[in-house]
Amino acid sequence: MFRQSKRITSGRKNFDNYSAKDKNLYVQDGDLLSSVYSQRLNLYDIPPLNEITLEEFETWAIDRLKILIEIESCQLRGRNFKEISAHLKPILAKLLPLTSNSKDSSLLISERKKDHYSHFILRLAFCRSEELRARFVKAETILFKIRYDLLSIQEQKNFVKSIDLPWQFIDNDEKLKFEKQLYDSCYNLIKLNLGASNSNEEIIKKTFENEIFLKVPFKYVLNLVSSRSVFINDGYCYVPQFLQLNLITSEFSQKLDEKLILTMKTIPRLDEDDRLLPVLNNLSNGYVLDEFLTQKGSGSLNRDSDELNASNLNQVSEFMPLCMQNLMYGLKKHNHLKYNGRQQLGRFIKELGLPLNEALLFWKNSLKGLNFEKDYAYNIKHTYGAVGGRIKYRGMNCTNIMNQPKPHSSEYHGCFYKENSIDDIFAKLKMMQMTDEQINQITDSVREGKYQIACTMVLESKCGGKTMPIVTHPNFYFEEAYKYSKDVSANKES
Ligand code: SF4
Repeated sequence: MFRQSKRITSGRKNFDNYSAKDKNLYVQDGDLLSSVYSQRLNLYDIPPLNEITLEEFETWAIDRLKILIEIESCQLRGRNFKEISAHLKPILAKLLPLTSNSKDSSLLISERKKDHYSHFILRLAFCRSEELRARFVKAETILFKIRYDLLSIQEQKNFVKSIDLPWQFIDNDEKLKFEKQLYDSCYNLIKLNLGASNSNEEIIKKTFENEIFLKVPFKYVLNLVSSRSVFINDGYCYVPQFLQLNLITSEFSQKLDEKLILTMKTIPRLDEDDRLLPVLNNLSNGYVLDEFLTQKGSGSLNRDSDELNASNLNQVSEFMPLCMQNLMYGLKKHNHLKYNGRQQLGRFIKELGLPLNEALLFWKNSLKGLNFEKDYAYNIKHTYGAVGGRIKYRGMNCTNIMNQPKPHSSEYHGCFYKENSIDDIFAKLKMMQMTDEQINQITDSVREGKYQIACTMVLESKCGGKTMPIVTHPNFYFEEAYKYSKDVSANKES
């Protein structure tokens, strides 16, 4: 897929590091539909070996990343599989479509190629830590399930036939031989599958009679074994066919997890490649969403450099998330903020794009009656990378903010929703003219510990009800709220 070393540049020399077996996997574009891309769905067993451009490498990966982020965002909002699937359908059609077999072949190849390559590129980006691997596997497994669901029945059958999984359907004689054991063991599963309203004894019996069973080595269905939901005989579990998708997806996620660990071990071989590593790092940063830049796309990039300054920062504080509004309030009230608060607000202000001289002016005006030059100026310059180790600090994201030490009574740092009582949050939201229904939804999220969801709901209400990605960075919140208000004013004027 990519060159192992930037020094090797000509022809098929790029594949010198692959084994002879791998080299045999290289397929001409014309043959792809009868081999690697014969099915709409891919289990990603075979790595891509054809070359793509660096631009394709990046843009395909970003499109897939957007989908995975959307899946995560839906999960964080507590949406069920059906809701996630409905939400993802149009996004998939736009970013990563997989047309059915009846369409023209060049379109099929280009779609399946993009899907295939983007999956493997993201493997490179997300194999580096256990947390990233777990999140990637989870999101990819949901994506796989959604796509399986989108296949026609015939396509599902063809797909299952095409994959080499270690199970077999039992015949009628075998079913009759173990009839009682099978019925007893899967009674609850059938009941659950039918749903409470459809599950009288008669229907369960009928469903059992029509059900086909698969024989699966028990190591593949340990979860069903531990919950005693299946009959076991001679090292095999007998699983009803309606659990087939669960079997495929658990195989999919298990294999993907193993492959990611293998990929992680080969990553050092890419260390010399200064074309790919920055792209991969950016991709994984984007997934962690440590950098709000991956979220925003619309805010401060379009702002004039002098639009925000020391004197108007207070006026725009209404567009700040409540954690920052709280710090602005504390600063105004006491003409002072303790260290953690100054760090949180200082880095936020820097990320807004306020130049160092304006930031110094803002802090000088705010920290009244204190020896500003002696006690504080150095620290602010340090945040800007102007003195000391000259590290340019980025704004803190929500995780950093929430992980700070708990604020004492005279401190204002931390996440507003995490550190304040429901009564205080209620009062603040009421002051912001939010409806009782909105406030109830937000405080319910806070009670469940879903602080970022609560914050996102507040942002959505500030942006006229527009659906937003989950807030993971206070600067993202600001950029969206600020931009929305500017757009509304511009529309009024025109
Ligand atoms: S969720 Fe993030 S942006 Fe919102 S208040 Fe908490 S820390 Fe601030």
